[in-house]
Amino acid sequence: MDNTMLYDVAIIGGGPAGYTAGIYASRASLNTVVIEQGMPGGQIATSDMVENYPAIPVISGAELGQKFQEHAESAGVATHYEMVEKLYKLDDGSFALHCGDKQILARTVIVTTGAVPRPAGFEGEETYRGRGVSYCATCDGMFYRGKDVFVVGGGNSAVEEGLYLAKIANSVTMVVRRDEFRAERGLVARLASQENVSIRFNTSIAAVDGGTLLSSITFRDNTTEERYTESYPMGSFGIFVFAGNNPVIDLVEPYVDLGPDGGVLTDELMATRTPGLFCAGDMRSKPLRQIVTAAADGAIAAHAANAYLQY
Ligand SMILES: Cc1cc2nc3c(=O)[nH]c(=O)nc-3n(C[C@H](O)[C@H](O)[C@H](O)COP(=O)(O)OP(=O)(O)OC[C@H]3O[C@@H](n4cnc5c(N)ncnc54)[C@H](O)[C@@H]3O)c2cc1C
Repeated sequence: MDNTMLYDVAIIGGGPAGYTAGIYASRASLNTVVIEQGMPGGQIATSDMVENYPAIPVISGAELGQKFQEHAESAGVATHYEMVEKLYKLDDGSFALHCGDKQILARTVIVTTGAVPRPAGFEGEETYRGRGVSYCATCDGMFYRGKDVFVVGGGNSAVEEGLYLAKIANSVTMVVRRDEFRAERGLVARLASQENVSIRFNTSIAAVDGGTLLSSITFRDNTTEERYTESYPMGSFGIFVFAGNNPVIDLVEPYVDLGPDGGVLTDELMATRTPGLFCAGDMRSKPLRQIVTAAADGAIAAHAANAYLQY
């Protein structure tokens, strides 16, 4: 990385929003860099199958994430593997991004840091994270081959990942807080038709316990508030939590306003209240956090950054 170069656009995050912004910025002849802290592709790289990205009826999440990266890089975008630790607006209106002892300078910044799984909030969740409690079926599902799993959540992600786990695990028990799923009906029908899947509506997990690994779950019946505990041989089961996402906003917090869902408020051009700073994708305050909306945000942000640089 050239520490002295002033990029036209620095994009923080290599998920669908970031790489789409990269494609559009590069095609507008802007000198563009994408900075990604981990695996390119973002959250979608952790999903088994994607069946709702237009024009691609079915594709694995990992492959789709890779395609975003390949497309952007073929359009001339470089990916730098760094974690951006700090973002500063400089007096001349440009920005400095600090990555360890490196600094990246840019005239505009598009932040696409996405979202991270929201904990379900039960007692013992943090203690057993990675020792029976997981937030990623494609990452950790294989550890539960032939075992029993509980999937917490009633939205699309929970149902999709429940379907994936049903192919690996001995049994899948969906733990749904309300009396119905929020997920698409087609997905729910597929899940319900699996022989090894059962569903507990109006139920939450209140607490988990065990030794080195999990050995018991205390459930709460949300209609009666009654709690009951089930015990199993230690390590014979796992819990997968898909309870929504928290937008990742730490880098930009001093420079933006936040919406009621904790996401960044932007205008329809993805502009924040700080000139030259754009936010796109799941980190925004928005009603639908999906690949297609993240990609659309990224395209608009790059278009707006280009317009900002022209004037
Ligand atoms: C299990 C699961 C299944 C899903 N299934 C679907 C589906 O079937 N269809 C669908 O449309 N959507 C699905 N989604 C949602 C979809 O993945 C997201 O809406 C989409 O990935 C958002 O893209 P994004 O670019 O805004 O953010 P993300 O994908 O979250 O990407 C953000 C990127 O920024 C990077 N980053 C964060 N902070 C920094 C930093 N400080 N420095 C450098 N890099 C940083 C992260 O490492 C990450 O790669 C699913 C999500 C999950 C978790």
